[in-house]
Amino acid sequence: MSCPRIEVDLGKIRRNTQTLVARLGPRGIGVTGVTKAVCGHPAIAQAMLDGGAKGLAEARIGNVQRLRAAGLTGPITLIRTPMLSQADQVVQSCETSYNTEVLVISALAAAAIRNGSVHGIVLMVEMGDRRDGILPENLADIAQMVIQTSGVALKGIGANFACLNGGAPTASQMMSLCDLANEIEGGCGPFLRIVSGGNSANLPWALGERTTGRVNDLRLGEAILLGVEPVSGDQIGGMHTDAFTLVAEVIETDAKPSPSPIALIDPTTDRLRIVTTSGASTRVILAIGHQDTDILGLSMPIGSTLIGATSDHLVLGAPRPRPTVGSEVRFQMNYNALMHAMATPDIKVKLLGSPPTWLSQRTQSKVDHLALV
Ligand SMILES: *Cc1c(COP(=O)(O)O)cnc(C)c1O
Repeated sequence: MSCPRIEVDLGKIRRNTQTLVARLGPRGIGVTGVTKAVCGHPAIAQAMLDGGAKGLAEARIGNVQRLRAAGLTGPITLIRTPMLSQADQVVQSCETSYNTEVLVISALAAAAIRNGSVHGIVLMVEMGDRRDGILPENLADIAQMVIQTSGVALKGIGANFACLNGGAPTASQMMSLCDLANEIEGGCGPFLRIVSGGNSANLPWALGERTTGRVNDLRLGEAILLGVEPVSGDQIGGMHTDAFTLVAEVIETDAKPSPSPIALIDPTTDRLRIVTTSGASTRVILAIGHQDTDILGLSMPIGSTLIGATSDHLVLGAPRPRPTVGSEVRFQMNYNALMHAMATPDIKVKLLGSPPTWLSQRTQSKVDHLALV
């Protein structure tokens, strides 16, 4: 079987989504599944939808186009402010986008008119992460501008936390977001359909004791894919943390001799001293490296230690029994490792579990083909 590869258990992704949908639903919050870490992989996106996500969100238009090309027709929101140069592609493939720039909103409006459609706008509000976002004091003016521009429709507001700066959102920050929604409706008129509270870092707040107010959407990637809460890194109770497994192949197992004695200057005497570095080790070398993934984001198999990595090699202190050449070693990945590995053309994706419903209607060869994207 092709190596290196990522094995994806679609059933675990579906069940993780179901778990979050079931917990957030009674609090009035729907789940939007974020596919950017898996580069808009269509079957993984479909597993999120099968688990009850009400829509999908992506950061890159190329990933959205991949989802559309695979036949996904449901709502997809672009959650990174569109590039001015991509306005036409954005209105053609996304119902809605998150926006912070008046110039971009105007370009989207013009593109939507050319396209014969109306493009939905969610205004991203800056609430402490200091990445993308409109300052709260400027929000009403920009909302007014959106309302008055034909070709676009104001759909809601959103916030984002714990990406570039700061920690998980506080209850009072979340209530400020709800107040902003009320103020905009009071001042500008239209009902804001979406009040999107943030990403996986919002889960402790959303599942906590306090009221969640008007927040009716969270955009969840990491929690669904890896079953963890990103700020603490802790497993979310009842969630699968092993939906993805990275598999790499052993290409060398010979024990290395002890490194040759080396000469060092002894600072106390200023004389050369011959030292031997500590003992020989059995090591295995795997055909994977920094070019493929974030090596420090891999959890080592039990009994193995990470000795080091280069662009194309990963050296492990060998577990016992030592793996043989040609055998496979399996790793769990954190978010960084997953994101890089999914984007690497040399790593194939192998889908486990029942393929999504729309895939099963296609021919087996199509499934095989899609399994190797
Ligand atoms: C990446 C991203 C998300 C999803 O974040 P997770 O931590 O993976 O849940 C949500 N919203 C925005 C704006 C993002 O960029």
